[in-house]
Amino acid sequence: MKKLMAANWKMYKLRGEAAATASDLAQRLAGKLPADREVLVIPPFTSLFAVAEALDGQPGFSLGAQNFYPSGQGAFTGEIAPEMLLEAGCRFALAGHSERRHILGEDDGLVGRKVAFGLTAGLSMILCVGEKIEERQAGQVEAVLERQLTAGLAGVPASVTSVELAIAYEPVWAIGTGLTAGPEEVAEAHALVRRFLTDRFGQTGASIRILYGGSVKPGNAGQIMGIDNVDGVLVGGASLESESFSAIVTA
Ligand code: PEP
Repeated sequence: MKKLMAANWKMYKLRGEAAATASDLAQRLAGKLPADREVLVIPPFTSLFAVAEALDGQPGFSLGAQNFYPSGQGAFTGEIAPEMLLEAGCRFALAGHSERRHILGEDDGLVGRKVAFGLTAGLSMILCVGEKIEERQAGQVEAVLERQLTAGLAGVPASVTSVELAIAYEPVWAIGTGLTAGPEEVAEAHALVRRFLTDRFGQTGASIRILYGGSVKPGNAGQIMGIDNVDGVLVGGASLESESFSAIVTA
């Protein structure tokens, strides 16, 4: 599997700026994208079609969504369905991002339903997990990750492939704060996630990608990518500028 280098643009960028950043990123990486890496751009919903057009025909790039509601269609005001995202060109979607868990109040059960439904609908799912600082200080990292992984993957069939599923380990205290987990902390958490995946999915679990997220920057990306069981990164702030994100992708 290629390493997955993902840019989460959160609630930033109007359509024109999103398309321009995507085009610029594709240009900067043309001929320079390492053969073992692929790039995923996850813009706000309103920019999906424009970014899809900007990235059309660019080898090694794909499009993702930040969220959806786990239903085919229906009376769910303000929500969006997987089929709508697929129509916009999305291959991937996130579930369980810490901002959705802790600001929007999503619980483990809803996250699990999203992962299962998204897979059935034909999206590749990235399940985000990670502990809060008080949970780390209380020695609960393992318990929190086990709980989030158990619930988040509860509806995933044993036949899932490593193309369809990835995990992002994102310690909440490192997201958007400038604090990055140290190499030992990252290695330990990723090893724990790997053990969980191989217990749950056998051989497939060994190749499901585990991304790290939390204040990844051009200056620390190389070191993070070198840690055992780090199969990519999920980047927020430093992905908003094509210059810094392209430096991360090639780090
Ligand atoms: C994220 O949004 O998933 C994230 C890791 O953000 P940042 O890189 O800004 O910490």
